[in-house]
Amino acid sequence: MDTKALHYAAQLIAQADALIVAAGAGMSVDSGLPDFRGSRGLWTTLLPEGMHERDLHAWTQGRCFEADPTEAWRFYSEALRVCESTEPHAGHAMLLDWASRKPHGAFVYTSNVDGHFEDAGFAPGRIVECHGSIRHFQCARPCSPDIWPAAPAGAQSKKAQTLPRCRRCGALARPNFLLFSDPAWVVARTNAQRLRMETWRAGPRNPVVIEVGAGLALPGVRMFAQSLRLPLVRINTDPAELFGTATVALQGKALDVLQDIDTELAERYTR
Ligand SMILES: [Zn+2]
Repeated sequence: MDTKALHYAAQLIAQADALIVAAGAGMSVDSGLPDFRGSRGLWTTLLPEGMHERDLHAWTQGRCFEADPTEAWRFYSEALRVCESTEPHAGHAMLLDWASRKPHGAFVYTSNVDGHFEDAGFAPGRIVECHGSIRHFQCARPCSPDIWPAAPAGAQSKKAQTLPRCRRCGALARPNFLLFSDPAWVVARTNAQRLRMETWRAGPRNPVVIEVGAGLALPGVRMFAQSLRLPLVRINTDPAELFGTATVALQGKALDVLQDIDTELAERYTR
């Protein structure tokens, strides 16, 4: 770890009046979860029995619910079960702790669909899920912008014959997160979250952006973080992905680097 960079990151965080956490797949990887639109290799951990890695392409396309609803739901029930059975890691709690010491708290912008920031205690009204959420459903057609909380994965597997249905029109329901080539994704919930963030952003005078595990392959979170033109702490495992317009860049796994910053904050700053 570059200690000078670590000191600088801790200083930026200590001096800020608010945190903007921009989190990509690398944040959830430390909880044992894949990025649902990212690395195919990681998706294999979600494959239900009898499904193969070569099938993955089909289940990441928006049309999969139309093409084969039963198999698509077999895959996504398993994905939902995995999300429900894994927990946020200590890095989420550290970010929440730092945020609790700021006059304006924190806002999270994440491509992760697992709901772990909310599980970790971040207020639902302070999170933007830019790719949606696997823990919410929408109509697969869709008949309306309606989005509702997912039934627990266990409840679905018990009634394998009855696939989740739209609560408005009775057509097939699907998870409300963005797949590839996915014009049917309902963006209403994410748009409302973005609007709340814009309103919140009028408050802080000196926020710092902490970008964690946001890769270049699907650069939405990075682009968001950079577009704010604020002091930016970038954390990434891949040295090739550290470059860009970050104020300070730290190489390492999300949890490890957050732990190092936390130690640094405790030692050097009265919190
Ligand atoms: Zn419907």
